[in-house]
Amino acid sequence: MSGIGVFGGTFDPIHMGHLRSALELKQALALDEVRFVPCRQPPHRALPAVGPEARAEMVARAIAGVTGFVLDRRELHREGPSYTLDTLVALRRELPGKRLVLLLGADAFLGLPGWHGWRALLELAHIAVAHRPGWSLEDGAGLDELTHGRLVAEPGALNAAAAGCIVLIAVTQLEISATALRSTAGVGGDIHFLVSESVREYIETTGCYRSG
Ligand code: ATP
Repeated sequence: MSGIGVFGGTFDPIHMGHLRSALELKQALALDEVRFVPCRQPPHRALPAVGPEARAEMVARAIAGVTGFVLDRRELHREGPSYTLDTLVALRRELPGKRLVLLLGADAFLGLPGWHGWRALLELAHIAVAHRPGWSLEDGAGLDELTHGRLVAEPGALNAAAAGCIVLIAVTQLEISATALRSTAGVGGDIHFLVSESVREYIETTGCYRSG
């Protein structure tokens, strides 16, 4: 399927779990590109530890030279909560005729019914959920309204509609947590192999997660 993957997040910082998932989703869905969209202000959680420009800089470093990976800075300049819906509305206008696929980890997907305008979101984009092998939707409660009539069995089925389908895709699971990573970096611990080398250098040089 030709289309644009939209991968949003706080990316505080972007790590190998994010990157590997994005790559496997790009391949599985045959996407033209994946747009990484760091948010300015996450709607559902505390402000990130590090400011939006620094998080975007780390994304830029992490994806440099990766074919089809693109940094999209639009949320950095938008005041107020960074709603994915606003981003999809803008992309829909800019990219007429391109299918948009919102890329989510399973944890983010389980929280989707709490998102601002989630129904409208499904009129603008398909959703691909990256999950660990063996995970099944029964694990999530209260998703019936969201998934009813929308689940498709394989990525090719997204071609049949412009938006509104949900596909679940098993990806290699790298159990890396940005929260744990920040704690390690906070005390000057070793973050090799959790993030790209370029991001590790940025974190260590700037000391952006150092506590005290
Ligand atoms: P934090 O620990 O700060 O909550 P996070 O990585 O969960 O970090 P985000 O940066 O907002 O938070 O996550 C962006 C997206 O990446 C979400 O869709 C989330 O489900 C997904 N994600 C988070 N961790 C991983 C991981 N280890 N592997 C794959 N995807 C992940």
